[in-house]
Amino acid sequence: MTKPTVAIVGRPNVGKSTIFNRIVGERISIVEDVAGVTRDRIYSSADWLSHEFNLIDTGGIDISNEPFLEQIRLQAEIAIDEADVIIFLTNGREGVTDADEQVAKILYKTNKPIVLAVNKVDNPDMRDMIYDFYALGFGDPFPISGSHGLGLGDLLDKVAESFPLEGAEEIEEDVIRFSLIGRPNVGKSSLVNAFLGEDRVIVSDVAGTTTDAIDTSYEYEGQKYKIIDTAGMRKKGKVYENMEKYSVLRALKAIDRSDVVLIVLNGEEGIREMDKRIAGFAEDAGKGVMFVVNKWDAVEKDDKTMKKFTTDIRESFLFLDYAPVAFVSAKTKQRVNTLFEKVKLISDNHAFRIQSSVLNEVVEDAVARNPAPTSKGKRLRIYYATQVAVKPPTFVVFVNEPELMHFSYERFLQNRLRESFGFEGTPIRLITRARS
Ligand code: GDP
Ligand code: GDP
Repeated sequence: MTKPTVAIVGRPNVGKSTIFNRIVGERISIVEDVAGVTRDRIYSSADWLSHEFNLIDTGGIDISNEPFLEQIRLQAEIAIDEADVIIFLTNGREGVTDADEQVAKILYKTNKPIVLAVNKVDNPDMRDMIYDFYALGFGDPFPISGSHGLGLGDLLDKVAESFPLEGAEEIEEDVIRFSLIGRPNVGKSSLVNAFLGEDRVIVSDVAGTTTDAIDTSYEYEGQKYKIIDTAGMRKKGKVYENMEKYSVLRALKAIDRSDVVLIVLNGEEGIREMDKRIAGFAEDAGKGVMFVVNKWDAVEKDDKTMKKFTTDIRESFLFLDYAPVAFVSAKTKQRVNTLFEKVKLISDNHAFRIQSSVLNEVVEDAVARNPAPTSKGKRLRIYYATQVAVKPPTFVVFVNEPELMHFSYERFLQNRLRESFGFEGTPIRLITRARS
């Protein structure tokens, strides 16, 4: 089941990022007494009791060129577009302000559940402050205090009540879910259209209707696929669609829901800093990954151009050395069909399970050929290995002393596994444990 998404929306300085950090459970993003402080993180997974969800701090989606009211309007729209449940945050110490009313006006347009929270109610004597907020028309306001961590339990209970029913979007086992992520304008939607051979992805969006993710399902040579919707693919012409933080948010959401992620690069422009950030998210998430260099038709080439671009990719994305690279053109459809096979292969590798006996033969053989080096007079001894998970394949290696496992030796073992089992496109994880 896909995790529901909760967005926090509200005018600046009501405490959105404070609440975000409280709920996420880490206090890493900076909160200062300045309105509009930039945040490091605007999207994270979180949990409450048995519920897992993703949380968005819309205040972190900085829409710097727009006037104040326009900014909060856009942030509220993003919340409506992206969330299953919206937390509308206000400040009890200041009462209802014009800006709160502006936010409310936009939120009236959605049918999505909205929970109204009144922040900065730091002690029980202050609870009277919440009554004014009934006027906003979202039912009972929940008094909370971000700085003291009060009231969050009741608020999250209410939020969780509004989650879509379990199983509403079940993950079908036999479907390969993939997404195309990348900067705006690299050609993601053109590629999807080229895949499908017609403009099926582009749907006209009627103002005011729900705008849930528009995924595309199709079948190719007996295999079912689902293309997870990403930024820039819907082409609704929203002001914020080309904004960097927004496209990052969409990429994160899409990665979450995918087995395989296609990182689309613009062959004409080469690799940019933003590409590296986006690729980093895919890597951290442990998904299958490949690089797709698009607009290859527009690149002036000789016989070395492809090799040179591949080298650039390898140097820019050091930790994604297992990800294959394809050079395609959405415009001419050159090699677009080869992507299907690759996605299938990567998905199979990502879900691959190795028999213990076979795994241990490979590990023993690797150790025999290249014994672990000694460290401070001690030698690492590997007793046996076992696969504990798929997606991505994860192995536990039982040893005498885990501290003796050096990074380079771990890398060597990983490479031996790759050579033996061909894990193209998927990360693999090794965990070292002392044999008990
Ligand atoms: P945002 O702009 O809505 O994300 O607001 P911030 O999270 O950056 O908070 C704005 C200011 O309000 C900061 O100075 C916070 O320390 C302060 N603040 C946040 N929550 C509370 C609270 O529950 N009580 C009080 N007294 N101050 C708070
Ligand atoms: P997205 O924002 O990543 O979804 O990018 P689009 O699919 O909207 O494409 C952005 C622009 O690049 C459009 O003007 C496309 O026509 C153009 N484009 C996309 N793919 C190709 C391609 O393979 N070759 C060329 N020359 N242009 C392309």
